[in-house]
Amino acid sequence: MRESSVTPAGTCLGLTAHKYGHGVGALDGWRFCPRCAGALEPADGGLRCTACGFAMWANSAPGAQALVERDGRVLLGRRGLDPSAGLWDIPGGFLDEGEDPLDALRRELREETGLEIEPLELLGMWTQDYAGRSVLCLTWLARPTGGEERAGDDLVELRWFAHDELPSPEELAFDTFVEILELWRSRERLSPGRE
Ligand SMILES: [Zn+2]
Repeated sequence: MRESSVTPAGTCLGLTAHKYGHGVGALDGWRFCPRCAGALEPADGGLRCTACGFAMWANSAPGAQALVERDGRVLLGRRGLDPSAGLWDIPGGFLDEGEDPLDALRRELREETGLEIEPLELLGMWTQDYAGRSVLCLTWLARPTGGEERAGDDLVELRWFAHDELPSPEELAFDTFVEILELWRSRERLSPGRE
């Protein structure tokens, strides 16, 4: 099911899942079986090979990302690569196959920021288009516990932003970040003394 606009998809235990519209399916345009090069036909909402029977379905790819917070500021990174080169990103990345989501979160934050982090709270789940794929973004609030801050991997610059210094929506790499950062900012206002 494709949605054409932002819709709250459901809530569970105070967490909210948000689905953002997307125009590209991971299997769009597939014509031949990746196993045997046989012809593909639609089946059960996915595709099935007419020669060997191999069936495939498109799913959102899981990703882990964190709003790392320190002294009331949140850490964002400027992207060095497309998509969205030059815009501000929430550090994170894709899970490896079978990888624990929190292991993936710590690994990606280490690669992109040089920091060791402690996840504090799962803020929510957002579905975001990324380079022709749909990504399920598991989003944590975290705090730094060590490491040496340096931009790496997709990021070329790191900066800590106070709640009144956040980049404008046009400066953010992906559209879900507007809502994610607004959630963080509104929580800051509710508990101004939080560190
Ligand atoms: Zn096949």
